Amino acid sequence: MSEPVAQEKILKGINASPGICIGKAYLVDKEGVDVVEKYFINAKQLQGEVKRFKAAVKKAGDEFQTVLKNRPEELQRDYILETHIALLEDKMLYGRTVETIQAEGVNAEWALKKIVSDLKATFEKMGDAYLKERAADVVHVSDAIMRNLVGIASKNIAAIDKRVILVANDLSPADTSQINLERIMGFITNRGGKASHTGIMAQALEIPAVVGLETATIAIKSDDLIIVDGNTGTVIIDPYEQTLFEYEERKVGYEDYRAVITRESHLRAETTDGTQLEVMANIEFPEEIVSVKNYGGDGIGLYRTEFLYMNRPDFPEEEELFGKYREVVELMDPKPVTIRTLDINGDKAIASQSGLDEANPALGLRAIRYCLRKPDIFRTQLRAILRAAAFGNVRILFPMITVYFEICEAIKALDAAAESLEKDGLPYKREIDIGIMIEVPSAVILADLLAEKADFFSIGTNDLIQYALAIDRGNRNVAHLYQPLDPAVLRLIQRVAEVSREKGIEVYMCGEMAATAHHIPLLLGLGIDELSMNPQSMPRAKRVIRSLSVSDARSLAREALKKKTARGVFKIIQSAYGDIISELEYH
Ligand code: PEP
Ligand code: MG
Repeated sequence: MSEPVAQEKILKGINASPGICIGKAYLVDKEGVDVVEKYFINAKQLQGEVKRFKAAVKKAGDEFQTVLKNRPEELQRDYILETHIALLEDKMLYGRTVETIQAEGVNAEWALKKIVSDLKATFEKMGDAYLKERAADVVHVSDAIMRNLVGIASKNIAAIDKRVILVANDLSPADTSQINLERIMGFITNRGGKASHTGIMAQALEIPAVVGLETATIAIKSDDLIIVDGNTGTVIIDPYEQTLFEYEERKVGYEDYRAVITRESHLRAETTDGTQLEVMANIEFPEEIVSVKNYGGDGIGLYRTEFLYMNRPDFPEEEELFGKYREVVELMDPKPVTIRTLDINGDKAIASQSGLDEANPALGLRAIRYCLRKPDIFRTQLRAILRAAAFGNVRILFPMITVYFEICEAIKALDAAAESLEKDGLPYKREIDIGIMIEVPSAVILADLLAEKADFFSIGTNDLIQYALAIDRGNRNVAHLYQPLDPAVLRLIQRVAEVSREKGIEVYMCGEMAATAHHIPLLLGLGIDELSMNPQSMPRAKRVIRSLSVSDARSLAREALKKKTARGVFKIIQSAYGDIISELEYH
């Protein structure tokens, strides 16, 4: 009798980064805390096991201390964290875990898990609200220790030594930034929505990614053969031979198509009626300059600087930042490099701030709010930017400006940084263009006031859509509502473009909306002067622009602004440009 053929399984998610990869799955255990295994330790190694536990406790203590140290001045006293630090050494938790390791001869993770669940049960039985809170503290502290015990080995993405496709519940931008391209072919996650930073990272790395799959870590085991189609958001587990063959062909087709549009990407992005648009790149790392050049970028429209602050317990020094910025600026010279100041927190938490613990991080101490609260960290970065500016064509861009006062404070800080460099006798350049990111609806409403403080606006649609439509950009449950073509979004963009024209400043767009082929005629028609996107998308954007005329695009925009729904807007784009765009977009 022949063996039954295993059923192939298909999962549908959100296409976060294009391309197709086929290979073995590798499950990244981000939830290691819940799946602790028990094993016995022989008597000779028991002391070593206790030592390992103590080291994990010490590391958790150091992490808590770093968080405390890096808190804004006025938040310095943090009773919860102080309780956590005290709990680390508590007899109930610490002492009894050590005893359990020694008495039962078990591994530290197992002993800790056992003690914590006993403690939790005891506290919870007491029924007292205060004591229940203490149970939550115990769990928090033990999680921190557990992460140090199990985490390093099982979550170290940088250490993976096989060519695989990562499968995870979720990957933070910090995790993604550890991906080694020689090993990792692509990744898929249960969580994540449209425009999450994790997807943006995958695009930067030019690997296929599908997010928001919900059950990937349940349906897939390590070493399963999987196909990831980042163009359509499809994942196929244990594919039939026929499916495998089909996808091998599609993969080759996609790669050929990329090669063709890449060759053309060195042509200027000029419309059929002679208007030139700049097509710029969004980057996260200096290493991406190679792609920017390969794909014909006219400059860097957004250098996201926060990644240099991730995966480390401390903050980078001025010299390190200056070195990296200077490298980018010199490599791109004379083309412009738009350096955005630190946009941490929100969904880009950094290790040294992990204790911030905000209920609504997207509405929390993020980006410029954080920098204005941490003048030392801000000054270090501003000095590094001004110093790098002496080596080429630099613009500075402030993220998440929400109220007028913030841009005034940011410029004050920039002036103070320039003065301090002058005093130190270091070369720098202060006469650089200043830009404001328009990514919060209040900034659109205040655009006329903000324009007086800026040389350009850059519309960050990833956040503008999130904040205007109240859609968490990283949440798969509401991903279907994340609609760049919604009339509300179009009206916001229209106002920013109009105010910019009236006030005589330039208006750019650096959100993912600018990277989508079918949005480009509309953006051109609304009067956006420059589009910035992940480098991979630039060849396609240039091709679209070369096939458009500004006058047609303007009439499209006029019609689009009369529509009541995103679907209505999409339909008129489709009927006017469907033939050009479908070939590019749905390849
Ligand atoms: C945006 O919000 O559109 C943007 C470009 O910034 P980021 O994606 O880094 O938040
Ligand atoms: Mg943003």
